[in-house]
Amino acid sequence: MSRERGIVYLIGAGPGDPGLMTLRGADRLGRAEVVVFDHLASARLLDLAPASALRICAGKSVGHCTLDQNEINQTLVEHAQAGKVVVRLKGGDPLVFGRGSEEAAVLRRHGIPFEIVPGVTAGVGATAYAGIPVTCRGAASAVAFVTGHSDPEASAGRSGVDWPALARFPGTLVVYMGVTHLDAICRTLIREGKTSGTPAAIVESGSLPSQRVVAGTLESITSLARERHVRPPALLVVGEVVARRGELEWFESLPLFGQRIVVTRPRDEAGRSASALEALGAEVVVAPTVEIRPMADTGPIDAAIDRLADYDWLVFTSVNGVRSFLDRLFERGKDLRALGGVKLAAIGPSTAEALDRFHLRADLIPPSFRSESLAESLAGVAAGSRILLARADRGRTILKDELSRLADVDQVAVYQNADADQLPDSLVDRIMDGSIDWITLSSSAITARLHALLPEPARRKIGREIKLASISPITTQAAAKLGWTVAAEASTYTWDGLIEAMTRQVAAGRAPL
Ligand code: SAH
Repeated sequence: MSRERGIVYLIGAGPGDPGLMTLRGADRLGRAEVVVFDHLASARLLDLAPASALRICAGKSVGHCTLDQNEINQTLVEHAQAGKVVVRLKGGDPLVFGRGSEEAAVLRRHGIPFEIVPGVTAGVGATAYAGIPVTCRGAASAVAFVTGHSDPEASAGRSGVDWPALARFPGTLVVYMGVTHLDAICRTLIREGKTSGTPAAIVESGSLPSQRVVAGTLESITSLARERHVRPPALLVVGEVVARRGELEWFESLPLFGQRIVVTRPRDEAGRSASALEALGAEVVVAPTVEIRPMADTGPIDAAIDRLADYDWLVFTSVNGVRSFLDRLFERGKDLRALGGVKLAAIGPSTAEALDRFHLRADLIPPSFRSESLAESLAGVAAGSRILLARADRGRTILKDELSRLADVDQVAVYQNADADQLPDSLVDRIMDGSIDWITLSSSAITARLHALLPEPARRKIGREIKLASISPITTQAAAKLGWTVAAEASTYTWDGLIEAMTRQVAAGRAPL
């Protein structure tokens, strides 16, 4: 019976930047039970699949997770026949040099339903991120996507590529998989009549933080690529359009371009936090050190909700506090009128924004977004009143301590701040091999947990080769107690403030000498 449910979605993941997948692709991925992915598909995209989905790496590059095409086909067929919703996530577009058509043909033979979700192919996506328009009025009225997989000199006729015709092609040539035979490809094009001075560029890891563009001419590009140690994935682009890069280059100028940043926040907040960094050109590695969980015993929250009319102020110190409290309030069959008689305080703009999403306005936000400042502000307006603090099950108690001196304060834990059991292995590997630039610390609890989870050799690299960005002086102190020096500290104690501090540091490092 479940067999009828089995389906395969062949989805294009785009060239690298996870933001380049289509909405349709994201929707299907969100429903996947099994994901079979290529190494060219971003790890961040895999986060869009449910946590319970089985993730199978099809590799297609060096590494232990490499399946050959038959094994990939077999895997798709088996899981679909077992009734699963299977996503086959492929780099770029599934049908452009991707063997997507072969996979679809196998599925058809087995009577397995499938959908093809196109993606942004590298020839369009990587070039756009390199600032190269593949067509351009006056410079190119046509574009050819070509595979450079076979050596044009060694396998004349067998590669299926008509190089003499391409040498005469009146437009842009975009050669995929052309790094290995770059030399022979350029030589062949020149020999067949293409002008040796034609602008040419290599776009390596286009749309990724490691993007590099090497530009020259058909004649010079091979030696330039060799000097710069160009590595796949890379495209060769040949044509006048390459010269437009000077005007159109944008990606590499983003303020956090090339920065590899770890987000340690709980998974449900990490997505939004990561997007803000990615929008500035950073690569984000999500590695939650703590998790947000509902309280096992909802008795105390329920009691507080039922007694809301007894309070003058309801105080929130986190986005999660807002969400957890209100979710429970609705679950109990109440609505926003239950908050009608109570004033609302939020520790900072993010918490206020969380209230705003429920159409609630904070009556008080302190000038500085920390417990001390909140206590001080409340002292001014809430002396002698009855205050309810909605908070995590652990954390600093300063707010309660301070307020208790002048008001009647109850606090209730509305969510649990639980420790993550481990960090992704890949994070530790990346810390050790130096492919991380920053780790963000957005609370003392996160800092402590990160320290506890890291093996000693990795710990030692933090604060030295790997820079730390802290959200507040309190978090900075927590890091200092663990022997870690912070390189950038937010002056406004919010995620945006933290990003701003990192951006300033990066800009200072990039300033011309
Ligand atoms: N289906 C993919 C292409 C797969 S073939 C697509 O539509 O893009 C693999 C080749 O694609 C690589 O050798 C390289 O030439 C190109 N490629 C893929 N991702 C790339 C990227 N981010 N930057 C540059 N070239 C890329």
